[in-house]
Amino acid sequence: TERSLVLIKPDAVARGHLGEILARIERKGLSIAAMEMRTATESVAAAHYAEHEGKPFYAGLLEFITARPLVALVIEGPRAIAAFRQMAGGTDPVEKAVPGSIRGDLGLVTGENLVHGSDSPESAAREIAIWFPQLA
Ligand code: ATP
Repeated sequence: TERSLVLIKPDAVARGHLGEILARIERKGLSIAAMEMRTATESVAAAHYAEHEGKPFYAGLLEFITARPLVALVIEGPRAIAAFRQMAGGTDPVEKAVPGSIRGDLGLVTGENLVHGSDSPESAAREIAIWFPQLA
């Protein structure tokens, strides 16, 4: 079994898609090991997105992710990381995410693409330690 850190981002919460996204996670057979609604602090957001520091979209990304509440969760199951990445769809909701995926069905712009999911076991461990230090 594997764990992944998922964020249901502020755009998804504000648009009322929390229930739909949680339902998709549950329908897939993944279990929820931890879940919390909170507004991300600047330091948590900067740690989470450290790899993007210096990129043109970095400032906007931090502003977006810290401005309103999000839901952070740890999901668990066989191949949970790949399973959720596939459910999320590609980063660009129009050009990359296919219909049927969360971003493909619900999103329009890359800067507001509804969800995040860890992309590797190393990222998952790093991100779980950032968002849920009590679980790491
Ligand atoms: P995430 O890490 O959120 O799951 P991802 O792995 O699909 O997304 P990354 O390339 O790691 O994509 O980018 C992280 C996040 O930064 C994206 O989800 C998106 O919100 C934002 N982002 C990436 N590229 C752009 C861009 N060109 N313009 C605006 N925002 C961007």
